[in-house]
Amino acid sequence: MGGGLIGLSTAYEFAKNKFEVEVLSKKRSEAAGFVAAGMLAAHAEGLQDELLTFGQLSQKMMPEWIKNIESDSGINCDLNKCGIVVPFQNYDDLQKFPTLKYGHYLDNNELKQEISGLNTIWKHGLLFKQDGQIDNRRRLMRALEKACATHGVKFREGANVKKLIFKNETLKGIFIQNATGDSETILCERAILCCGAWSKNLLKELPIFPVKGQMLSIQGPSNRLKRILFGEKIYLVPRNDGLIIVGATVEKQSGFDNGNTPKGIKKLQHGIDLLFPEASKWPHMEHWWGFRPSTPDLKPIIGESPIKNLYLATGHYRNGVLFSAVTSNLIYKLILNESLEDIEKDLLTKFHLRRFKTDYSILH
Ligand SMILES: Cc1cc2nc3c(=O)[nH]c(=O)nc-3n(C[C@H](O)[C@H](O)[C@H](O)COP(=O)(O)OP(=O)(O)OC[C@H]3O[C@@H](n4cnc5c(N)ncnc54)[C@H](O)[C@@H]3O)c2cc1C
Repeated sequence: MGGGLIGLSTAYEFAKNKFEVEVLSKKRSEAAGFVAAGMLAAHAEGLQDELLTFGQLSQKMMPEWIKNIESDSGINCDLNKCGIVVPFQNYDDLQKFPTLKYGHYLDNNELKQEISGLNTIWKHGLLFKQDGQIDNRRRLMRALEKACATHGVKFREGANVKKLIFKNETLKGIFIQNATGDSETILCERAILCCGAWSKNLLKELPIFPVKGQMLSIQGPSNRLKRILFGEKIYLVPRNDGLIIVGATVEKQSGFDNGNTPKGIKKLQHGIDLLFPEASKWPHMEHWWGFRPSTPDLKPIIGESPIKNLYLATGHYRNGVLFSAVTSNLIYKLILNESLEDIEKDLLTKFHLRRFKTDYSILH
């Protein structure tokens, strides 16, 4: 359920291993997978504890995983370990950065050399060479769809899952409304809930809520920026063709309000002025927005649900692109009862829904 980034990644994993898979997608175009900046930034995001472990695992798996998707789809995903520079105005802030020990320290001269044109208010930097990006919007999402189709995945666009059907706490089927307005019950052996920010609509006990993000792109000269620049307020992600993705607002109060707002675009523009003034003059090419699937502790929910044969893979918040490889692999191993390494068992315990001590009265 859900044809966004996590739904597609998971469908691909199962289909590749000869399972019969159907993807039920309410609306392809609203998926955050088409919104994200595509940073693979376990270190530059300053992730900590199990989130950092999860991100590092995924980052390690990514080259092989993407190679398979590219070969099954014929689409190059522009995976690029370009490195990410995080600039700081003072040395104390740099010292407090959670992933400091994974970065390479840049003094003022080195920082200027690394990012010529950076606003002079930034005095120090950390370079995370191990981080990078992938072109999720134009390439990865489509490549995943095509790779899924290659392995026989059936797609149903406009299939809005309305209800989960279960008996004796065991999943029996899924009730959907099709794009034509007809309703249908689909019987299934197992289902995985990957409905991103909308996941709560299917299981009201899920503590998932949307955090809106507005984005824009600007066109600069090719190769003017070689690394991602991850500022305090905004980040700049340079694609190979000179298109630079600028993100993003973090709006907890906006709910599912659609559309860009003057305030949001102004904030991004102000962020560009503060970070990399030269880019202030570069033309805006596109504005867009989307909804991050958030949880109260900002960690994903992965694993079993209170309903037998219904699994959860949601709540990836601001790192779903980064986490996609490891999530699909982990959920596959869990469902097939494959042997798990200690680190994987630990992650599944930490990301289990039960950490929220929810009341599942729905089932009784
Ligand atoms: C502005 C922004 C920038 C981001 N930047 C990055 C980044 O640089 N790096 C990174 O790693 N991550 C980033 N992310 C996060 C990443 O995009 C998400 O974590 C990820 O896309 C979540 O994937 P998902 O499949 O859970 O949800 P989505 O990709 O949102 O997909 C969910 C899908 O489920 C469908 N659905 C919902 N309800 C139903 C239903 N009832 N029936 C059927 N289908 C349903 C929806 O229509 C949607 O298509 C960013 C997100 C945003 C918003």
